Amino acid sequence: MSENLYDRLAGGFPADRAKPCFLTSDGAAISYGALEAGAAQVAGRLIALGVEPGDRVALQAEKSPEAVMVYLGTLKAGAVFLPLNAAYTAAEIDYFRADAEPKVFVSDPPAFVAEAQGAAPLEETVARAAADLAAIIYTSGTTGRSKGAMLSHGNLAANALALHEIWGFSAEDVLLHALPIFHVHGLFVALHCAFLSGAPMVWLPRFADAEVLAGLSRATVMMGVPTFYTRLLANPDFTRDTAAHMRLFICGSAPLLPSTFAEFEDRTGQRILERYGMSEAVIITSNPLDGDRLAGSVGYPLPGVELRIAGAETGVVEIRGPSVFSGYWRNPGKTAEEFTADGFFITGDVGRQDPDGRVWISGRAKDLIISGGYNVYPKEVELVLDELAGVVESAVIGVPHPDFGEGVVAVVIGQRGFAGDEAALIAQARAQLAAYKAPKRVMFVDELPRNTMGKVQKNLLRERYAALFGSSVVVAR
Ligand code: AMP
Repeated sequence: MSENLYDRLAGGFPADRAKPCFLTSDGAAISYGALEAGAAQVAGRLIALGVEPGDRVALQAEKSPEAVMVYLGTLKAGAVFLPLNAAYTAAEIDYFRADAEPKVFVSDPPAFVAEAQGAAPLEETVARAAADLAAIIYTSGTTGRSKGAMLSHGNLAANALALHEIWGFSAEDVLLHALPIFHVHGLFVALHCAFLSGAPMVWLPRFADAEVLAGLSRATVMMGVPTFYTRLLANPDFTRDTAAHMRLFICGSAPLLPSTFAEFEDRTGQRILERYGMSEAVIITSNPLDGDRLAGSVGYPLPGVELRIAGAETGVVEIRGPSVFSGYWRNPGKTAEEFTADGFFITGDVGRQDPDGRVWISGRAKDLIISGGYNVYPKEVELVLDELAGVVESAVIGVPHPDFGEGVVAVVIGQRGFAGDEAALIAQARAQLAAYKAPKRVMFVDELPRNTMGKVQKNLLRERYAALFGSSVVVAR
């Protein structure tokens, strides 16, 4: 039997294909029937262009329903989907092209779909086995050259089915989709949950306050990154009423601050459901739909996922399970380095696990600071700083220090009107932390550099403050 993910997803489409799939902000709707027809036409066109099973089809474009048709048409044709961030420069694209060697590169999905309408649509989905590749997702590459995570039809199907089940999706749902679709969050997590339920999506090209607020009145579930939530909370028009008929707010891709979780609950009476995932495995853990959603915890491993902490009580998270990728594209060396002998993927995230299985993530192993020979976990320091009066958010990094190897530096966003007294903050931090953990310097900024998924780019902060202690040597990571 074919295990092509396309057929799995299409199995969830509503029996009445006239039902809407995309509700766009101009008030129009695109039906599931139109999505299915578009995918079949794209698949037909790709095959006419000479695409064979296993060939890569790259897409770099703004978000659109047609881009989704290209994604589904690629799967249907048995090819491998390669989404690329719309913000990548020509030089970056050159690298991906050389590495992945796509047979077709789509940069204008509406034009491609219009052109495909002239081709014979592919009726029968090309058969694929569970282990065959469905997509290559290049990791964000903040620590060296971007690597292509190879995800199979089986990997993606297993994750989609598990999420659909544990988050209680049904045909009654309407998903607010404001995420980019070049990343696993918007592409796999969100789209697959909607498809498997045959549910419509309020389809927004990006997160814009007014459109999201209007969209919430039609939606039942929103998936977002933490910045979506801080932006909603910063808007006085976001009230308990706006959120009243939403059944679920899901958050991930970067840590959700406990203060955001608490403020959201105060404002709306609802608890955000935080989950944890990555390009290499899609979703790994989730807080429960029914049961305790706790601030600062990413919840329990998904059914079928084995999760363990390497070494001591707090250590690197290792995972094994049906959604874990098979390796990095054309990079057996990296693949071998990042899997243990017994087949667990070494995530690079540091965390701990309660006896009942609940997981807490405390940062990236690569962000660990070693100051004067002592390990400093940035998250521990950030949690202390974030509680101090006047501090909105902090990012703690290590930069070269002539005596300590690395010196702890806090980059802090202060509340509006906060004068920012460096010495006072350091003293307050010292009162709660061992001296070696307390920041040696505090830098006040208006904003932290973040990538499109809301992750703080600590590598950029490390570069910016590399010479703070008089050394210009940049620590290689
Ligand atoms: P990416 O492959 O771009 O999706 O990035 C994956 C990384 O995002 C993970 O390895 C984590 O470091 C981080 N991440 C994702 N979700 C969470 C979360 N809920 N809490 C903390 N970190 C997260």
